[in-house]
Amino acid sequence: KPAGDFGRHGDDAVDLATRHLIQPWPVAGSAGAEARALIGEGDGIHITDGDGKRLIDGPAGMWCINVGHRREELARVMYEQAMQLSYNTPWYTMNAPSAELARRIADHAPGDLSHVFYTTGGSSAVETALRFMQFTNNVRGRREKKLILSRGGAYHGSTYLSASLNGRPRDRDWMDGADGLVVKLTAPNPFRRPARVSRKTFADFLVEEFRQTVEEIGAERIGAFVGEPIQASGGVIVPPDGYLKRIREICRANDILYVSDEVVTAFGRLGHVFASGEVFGLDPDMITFAKGVTSGYFPLGGVVISGRLLEELRKSNHPDAMFAHGLTYTSHPVGCAVALKNLDLLEDGILAHAREVAPYFQTQLKTLEALPLVGEVRGMGLMACVECVADRDSNNPLELDNAVGKRIDRHCHELGLLVRPLINMCVMSPPLIITCEQIDTMVAILREGISRTMDDLRKEGVWDG
Ligand code: PLP
Repeated sequence: KPAGDFGRHGDDAVDLATRHLIQPWPVAGSAGAEARALIGEGDGIHITDGDGKRLIDGPAGMWCINVGHRREELARVMYEQAMQLSYNTPWYTMNAPSAELARRIADHAPGDLSHVFYTTGGSSAVETALRFMQFTNNVRGRREKKLILSRGGAYHGSTYLSASLNGRPRDRDWMDGADGLVVKLTAPNPFRRPARVSRKTFADFLVEEFRQTVEEIGAERIGAFVGEPIQASGGVIVPPDGYLKRIREICRANDILYVSDEVVTAFGRLGHVFASGEVFGLDPDMITFAKGVTSGYFPLGGVVISGRLLEELRKSNHPDAMFAHGLTYTSHPVGCAVALKNLDLLEDGILAHAREVAPYFQTQLKTLEALPLVGEVRGMGLMACVECVADRDSNNPLELDNAVGKRIDRHCHELGLLVRPLINMCVMSPPLIITCEQIDTMVAILREGISRTMDDLRKEGVWDG
């Protein structure tokens, strides 16, 4: 089959999309009337677009194709599981892969996180964690303890409650949310800290803001804090050292549940199955996961929940109180079977590989800071962000408008790399199997893409860096 031949759907997919498909995050002016780059094939770290062009999958799908595209073992296990048992109702029955996967996830999870509730993805995982917090506080007679603390720069999902936690600029401009339930704190973004303030002082400020907020509102009204260890879609924001642990301690002291949203950071992105414990020394009350749990081969997510919380529930005065929450596809056997095989692949070498190449990935990307348009390259493990600025003295991104990421993406696409453009940033999170040689190619393309963008901006007279 020639490259770019996508069979009977390929020819008219673009036309059909513009007439019948609504893509995620559309703007009003093109809702239901746009086609995006058609992707027909994936193999390893590469994908092939509608013109037969082979590209490095820079964002690994959507931070999810962790073990790479076209892993035959994963395809086979999904086929075999579907032929054995394609679905069973989790309301009255159970299946073996979901129980086995829960045990293996619990083995990797920090602290006393011992039980798993499966969902269909990350939003539903966050939603589940929050509904569980509400439920446990109702059962324990603390009906007022429901507020949720979240932060600027956060992304936790697209369902109503999870989206209400989001704190990225623009996400909430035109969208409603459960605002009365959520309290937003400052984004832990060292790059945007006030001038002449050290990282340490900035961390102290964030911790103090958290402590004061709890004091002012009253711990008896706050049920949970939800935070990504590294804010992913907010631009790979690596928080200041020690800050997360200090927040965790305030939560513990005030009986506020700490929910670590590891939808992006789990299953290898930072070289471990979970990053909360192994990278950040945290023992959260709940961890949400999705994406990399199946390397994106099947929509699956979940929450790992503390055994202590469950024991408290079992011993409560309301043994009949029902956690009326569950999804048709909770504990899906095909999803859990592919997740088990995916975990085998991670444990059998891919996690170790990710840990090995991560320093090279970070140092090579860091060399892009020599380009005058680049304000900062930051990251950890195999996730990184190149943030562009109009002016390196002020770090001002505003005058560059949101087209800069897209401009870089367009050039890189031509050169053979798919970039995830985010306003003035490019996020890189390739499949974990990427080699050092492939990292070199990726960085070279990115360098050329940014250089061409700088030329364009100069020619148009909108930038003179
Ligand atoms: N939480 C985090 C940290 C995410 O990055 C995302 C998605 O990118 C979500 C939750 C939502 O996950 P999903 O899109 O699978 O619902």
